[in-house]
Amino acid sequence: MSAGDKGLLVVVSGPSGAGKGTICKRLLETKDGLVASISVTTRKPREGEVDGKNYFFVSREEFMDMVERDGFIEYAEVYGNYYGTPRKFVEENIGKGKDVLLEIDIQGALQVKEKYREGVFVFILPPSMEELKQRITKRGTEDEKEILRRFEAAYREINYVSRYNYFVINDEVERATEKLRSIIIAEKCRVDRFKMKLIGE
Ligand code: 5GP
Repeated sequence: MSAGDKGLLVVVSGPSGAGKGTICKRLLETKDGLVASISVTTRKPREGEVDGKNYFFVSREEFMDMVERDGFIEYAEVYGNYYGTPRKFVEENIGKGKDVLLEIDIQGALQVKEKYREGVFVFILPPSMEELKQRITKRGTEDEKEILRRFEAAYREINYVSRYNYFVINDEVERATEKLRSIIIAEKCRVDRFKMKLIGE
């Protein structure tokens, strides 16, 4: 029954500034058996970002080459750059029984949902839109035009919460992380997940 158990695919999205990055980082520090997928992007590295750690930074040509070779389980254009989740890492780790965390945008999450029905989809929400604006502004990594663009996108994106299985309001990082951890634990105890394994679906 336990041999050959597959890991859980946990997909986390939310508008820019909701704090999903911080929550995911915190969760990874404290949750055994959970690994983060590192995305491939055509975005230029920000100050302090490391290739192979934050992202794999590639050219458009390299990215499109991976698309052609079916190297992604999903990919999307976000704020003018491409981002994709490498297929090999995800499938290998899930196959080994590791839980895999994807922190990706909504377009990508919806693609994953089509293919991996058994995934768990969590939407991180800011405590309020006012707070969200402050967080996007305070981060200081984007210029004014980019801030406005991200804020407008956030307004639209929040409606997509209904396509997810869970929402977590990030009013306080520790509390939000604990909720996400609890969701994963509860998902692993679901009877229908267990049945899926028994009948080999
Ligand atoms: P940033 O440029 O701020 O690191 O990320 C911008 C957006 O791209 C965020 O919403 C982030 O979750 C999303 N993102 C990061 N990696 C991926 C990925 O592999 N696929 C998709 N679809 N979105 C991603």
